[in-house]
Amino acid sequence: MFDTLARGFRQARNRLAGLTELTESNIDSALREVRLSLLEADVEMGVTKAFLARVKEKAIGQTHTNRVKHAGEAHAVSASDIFIKICNDELISLMTHEGELVKFSPGITGIMMVGLQGSGKTTSTAKLARWLEKQGKKPLLVAADMQRPAAVEQLKVLGGQIKMPVFNIPDGTPVQICAAAKDEAKKLGRDVILYDTAGRLAVDEELMQELADIKSKTAPDNIFLVIDAMIGQDSVKTARAFNEKLGISGVVLTKLDGDARGGAAISVKEATGAPILFSGVGETTDKFEEFRPEGMASRILGMGDVVGLMQDFEEVVDQKKAERDAERMLSGEFTLEDFLDHIRMIQKMGSLKDLVDKLPLGGMLPGGIPDNVNLDDKELVRIEAIIQSMTKFERKDPYALVREPKRVERISSGSGTKPEQVTELVQKFVFMRQMMGSLGQNMGMMGKIPGMKQMAMARNAKKMMAGGGMPGMG
Ligand code: GDP
Repeated sequence: MFDTLARGFRQARNRLAGLTELTESNIDSALREVRLSLLEADVEMGVTKAFLARVKEKAIGQTHTNRVKHAGEAHAVSASDIFIKICNDELISLMTHEGELVKFSPGITGIMMVGLQGSGKTTSTAKLARWLEKQGKKPLLVAADMQRPAAVEQLKVLGGQIKMPVFNIPDGTPVQICAAAKDEAKKLGRDVILYDTAGRLAVDEELMQELADIKSKTAPDNIFLVIDAMIGQDSVKTARAFNEKLGISGVVLTKLDGDARGGAAISVKEATGAPILFSGVGETTDKFEEFRPEGMASRILGMGDVVGLMQDFEEVVDQKKAERDAERMLSGEFTLEDFLDHIRMIQKMGSLKDLVDKLPLGGMLPGGIPDNVNLDDKELVRIEAIIQSMTKFERKDPYALVREPKRVERISSGSGTKPEQVTELVQKFVFMRQMMGSLGQNMGMMGKIPGMKQMAMARNAKKMMAGGGMPGMG
């Protein structure tokens, strides 16, 4: 994801490699790369221009600050470091949001969900309900999308899955249904109402009027627009239209697990004034996150969402053990036993693709994440079976399998796999261990650039690795 953007920023950095000073002409040549990739990623023209102008202005201002003081010592910072840091800050400011994600009212809070058909509105309504429940709220889901035949049923199914009540009046109009929902919420003792309204395939007058009527009847505290991140510039047009008619308070950006190019994420706040508050990262109701501009910026820059990964890990990892493991792992000492622990943890955490997307490896390994690293979740189960069929000795010293092929046969029949699969696992494990080692070295080098975000990222990444981001790579 965001490959185009990441490539653009990488090329810009290359243009500045080895330079110590940012001048108008070298900034321009770096910005040309960035400009191309922004447009290719479907960032709106106006937003692109404004972004480039701000980066340029700040970069020129920084020309003479190519040495920074850190812990009493002066360190050289290269022009490309400064440039990337400025880009990072500007990306964050394009997406940042201050204040509460959801505005709660003292009585019953209303959240109106709007968006085009297929944007992920109904799914996001259920996801948001789950999020709200974690905040101690008791949501009521209102099925008011009478436009799409299956939408009511879909919300009922989702409501059943997350064990939350769903309100609907079979013959009612959307306005009637929404208007009656408050009484239902009172009756059931629910304190947040989520209105899943109808979408259309495109913005049209009738849809907008229906939504405006629902708004005036229910006076919701929040109006969230759901946008599909895979739709580029059009999503910004949609957002503008909804905002003009309804005044949206925030955006839920869905399908960030797919082939999103990043255009919508970068453009939408600048275009509407409404910030992205949440992101959808998968089809199931647990694939929902608070939107983090810092994480998104570092992913766009190709640095990986280290912070996001840290949060995922915090839920399942014992920090101390994590740090100890990290030290070992990054120095290339990592056994199959650790590997197994980490695979089990990854299974608790969700899909490997989600995880790897967030890793900073793409930017650090010269060729990006190698294509031959298989990330099939099903393979995890097989890997676990194989490792469990190994003796303690073999887990500590997987080279024993290379030295004595008889062991491979025993393990493969014990785990119900083919001998080639056992050998392949050992090869991949050894490869991964080497990769960890070189990552450790790279981080050591990065740590020499003081004051830069990368330093904190490297530290975090070290901890994160301890959580086992990589070992599950089949
Ligand atoms: P609606 O018409 O706007 O209510 O859209 P739905 O909620 O029915 O979603 C349309 C499709 O997008 C469904 O197949 C959902 O499973 C899928 N979807 C929704 N959100 C996400 C997401 O964050 N990631 C992925 N991969 N799929 C999503």
